Amino acid sequence: MIRLSFVLWAIMLVAWCAMRYPAMRRARRQKTRLDKRTPLDISLLTLCALGLAFMPIAWRAGLLGGLADRSHSPILVVAGVLTGAVFLWLFRRSHKDLGTNWSVTLEVREGHRLVTQGVYAHVRHPMYASFMLWGIAQALLIPNWIAGFAGLVAVLALYCVRQSREEAMMRETFGAEYDAYCVRTKRLVPGVF
Ligand code: SAH
Repeated sequence: MIRLSFVLWAIMLVAWCAMRYPAMRRARRQKTRLDKRTPLDISLLTLCALGLAFMPIAWRAGLLGGLADRSHSPILVVAGVLTGAVFLWLFRRSHKDLGTNWSVTLEVREGHRLVTQGVYAHVRHPMYASFMLWGIAQALLIPNWIAGFAGLVAVLALYCVRQSREEAMMRETFGAEYDAYCVRTKRLVPGVF
């Protein structure tokens, strides 16, 4: 079962890469109007790559030497697969809705438009919410406390640092339009938070 849940986790990672790659290529052609990227952003993105990709692979390769392994159960695997499916759906939807306005770090593009439709009609950070679901799916699928939770911890750190800076950048760019958008929407969970 450990092997199966690792394979399921790996399928989730490959599916994510397949969705992200075309957006990365497209983003390279977009011109930037405002760049708020800092070394801290780059460090947190690196931490996410370590937590969400490297750590489970290192655990499976035996680099943790059995440290912090936990018991596993089919219920956790099923819950992990379902959470992973919701993650991939939400990730794809938010990428589609953001379109060419997306960037991996905090940037405003030339001709940037404030997206308020699709999943963005309900929450302001659906893509970050999808990453949190990825972290939860990983914690359910990988039966090791360190490698399982490394992704979620990294994503939460990225979100805590970015959320207020991103909203300040959007407010600076879109002014009253963004304020009105904030009044109608929550950050991560529709109608709740
Ligand atoms: N926080 C959003 C987007 C993450 S991608 C989410 O979690 O879904 C980060 C980039 O998206 C930022 O650099 C910003 O330029 C852009 N962005 C964020 N919200 C946006 C919106 N509502 N409309 C257009 N661009 C947005």
